[in-house]
Amino acid sequence: MTFLFTIGFLEIELLDIIDILLVTALLYQLYKLLTGSVALKIFLGLLSIYLLYLVVRAAGMELLSIILGQFMGVGVLAAIILFQPEIRRFLLLIGKTTAFNHDRFWGFPWRREQTEKLSLTPFIEAAKSLAAKNTGALIVFAKSSELKYYAESGDLIDAVISKRLLMSIFNKNSPLHDGAVIIANNRIKAARCILPVSENQEIPASMGLRHRAAIGLTEITDSIVLVVSEETGQVALVRNGEAFRNLSSSDLRVKLNQFLFDTDQRPSISPSEKSVSAA
Ligand code: ATP
Ligand code: MG
Repeated sequence: MTFLFTIGFLEIELLDIIDILLVTALLYQLYKLLTGSVALKIFLGLLSIYLLYLVVRAAGMELLSIILGQFMGVGVLAAIILFQPEIRRFLLLIGKTTAFNHDRFWGFPWRREQTEKLSLTPFIEAAKSLAAKNTGALIVFAKSSELKYYAESGDLIDAVISKRLLMSIFNKNSPLHDGAVIIANNRIKAARCILPVSENQEIPASMGLRHRAAIGLTEITDSIVLVVSEETGQVALVRNGEAFRNLSSSDLRVKLNQFLFDTDQRPSISPSEKSVSAA
């Protein structure tokens, strides 16, 4: 391999530089992914044990290095179990950003048609009416995944989308009003669904479980979540763990159009709108 220079007794080759740069990029991505979650503390804990193990082994302390060595042996497996949500998020992130993932790349006309046909009006009107009455709502728009796992945590509906149906589901006296509604393939798939709650510690206290659940789901999937606050009557849209709060009906339409149909273009977001960033 191309020899570049030496530092003391170390001979540095081009491959070593590439190696170091790749590890740096990987660690940076890992840090970005873990900041704000408890997983960062677990990760730092595991890292300290590993460093201690290296020191102990170098110092030749037999007993302690055997014990820590055993711990390290199962470390990979333990890390996979402990970091399961983060690993999922990381793999999804990679999958999401590859060119193969785009409909345009695959060019399936029927897939494109299906996403473009979704009418936003029932959601915008329902959100407006629900907000006016301070009725809470949580609506998930599935994108690349149909979110079957989460749909099955609630009651399957599979109905045609209409403002009236959305209003009746979220009516406070309705047995279906609790939890989230999932929209997939232009149908109301399910109601009363339970979403994963975000562990991000940077989420302001003003956001309760409904908002945390919306943030949690969008951290691990590419879905878009619409939240109507019961307390404030405000409408928010959540994507990639970021909440865009206090949206008017026209803002909501613009953002829904951008987030659901214009996946290539990152919308320009003013800092005041951006309240939480988990990325
Ligand atoms: P709001 O502004 O409407 O009060 P909030 O973010 O403060 O919302 P809470 O007041 O805690 O949240 O809302 C509780 C409601 O959120 C529950 O009644 C339930 O319908 C919904 N919710 C809570 N946790 C989940 C979850 N994990 N998945 C889906 N829905 C949930
Ligand atoms: Mg609340």
